[in-house]
Amino acid sequence: MPADTASLTFSIKPNANPMPAAERAKLFENLGFGTVFTDHMAVIRWTEGKGWHSAEVTARAPFPIDPASAVLHYAQEIFEGMKAYRTGDGRAVLFRPEQNARRFNESARRMAMPELPEALFLEAVDKLVRQDGDWIPAGEGGSLYLRPFMFANEAFLGVRPARDYIFCVIASPVGPYFKGGAKPVSIWVSEHYSRAAPGGTGAAKCGGNYAASLLAQAEAYKNGCDQVVFLDAAEKRYIEELGGMNVFFVMDDGSVVTPPLGGSILPGITRASIIQLARDAGATVVERPYTFEEWQADAKSGKLKEAFACGTAAVVAAIGTVKFDGGEFKISGGETGPLTEKLRTQLVGIQKGQTNDPHGWVKVIDGI
Ligand SMILES: *Cc1c(COP(=O)(O)O)cnc(C)c1O
Repeated sequence: MPADTASLTFSIKPNANPMPAAERAKLFENLGFGTVFTDHMAVIRWTEGKGWHSAEVTARAPFPIDPASAVLHYAQEIFEGMKAYRTGDGRAVLFRPEQNARRFNESARRMAMPELPEALFLEAVDKLVRQDGDWIPAGEGGSLYLRPFMFANEAFLGVRPARDYIFCVIASPVGPYFKGGAKPVSIWVSEHYSRAAPGGTGAAKCGGNYAASLLAQAEAYKNGCDQVVFLDAAEKRYIEELGGMNVFFVMDDGSVVTPPLGGSILPGITRASIIQLARDAGATVVERPYTFEEWQADAKSGKLKEAFACGTAAVVAAIGTVKFDGGEFKISGGETGPLTEKLRTQLVGIQKGQTNDPHGWVKVIDGI
């Protein structure tokens, strides 16, 4: 379905009961991930024959949903994850937001949902961040996590793409994603459950992929691990990605390996940024299939020096321990390796406006 509405006027309806600043400041003292929400949300609706309409920024509130609403039955739902940061000199910035807008439409196409013009996606994000600018945490490790999403909202039980959708952006002030801060994470290798198959929805950011990952993630917790890593569904040999993060391997010759995008891996914006920064730093980055056997052998022989996972929520997390049914091994002696540390510091520095931004990734939201 082509994007059919180039521009809309957002009606701005400020929350009549915003959270008092003192109460917000108290919440900011102990932020986790995704538990606290701002005062507003941005909403745009789509109806077949009418296109995108009724754009607004309004008080955050529940949606009344018909029990027959298509999303509740057939899971036509996609989302994005991005962050607004407060820089040291007080500016509000976004990191590569146009990449999220583009990927959102790639997800929409895969899920037979209407595309949202990129300018409208970006405007909805901009309008919400302006309205809730006071909610961007300023401290170390803090940011305003933005969650644009869209779901089918037609009351109809027949199986076909729905004729009504709601696009919405909500925002959540967050602290560091992993409770242990920048400590290396432990990873469970899921050898029984798959996340995404060839021809499936692995490259789309849809809720269903996460539903499919939860049992494997539960298995990871049960085995004392922080996260799960999935193997390819067809051969159960190749490392694909974590439930919500892409993976990288640093070799003893300084080269960096990451699994290639092939339809079953989510094309992370952090992944693309890390590839660029590693190349800028002179590293050879190779996108190639990497098997679990190779991973074990390289860790044992010392050829593998570092491994890390990356995504918007956690940015870059070193992988310290890998466990699987039948054993475990450590990487970098369970510590964060030097290239991992360097890339994380550089990326976080760019995102927070502290470091030179050679590729123009940071977009300032001026006036707030
Ligand atoms: C969102 C996501 C990522 C990371 O993408 P970023 O754009 O870097 O945040 C990786 N894997 C999956 C499955 C995801 O949903």
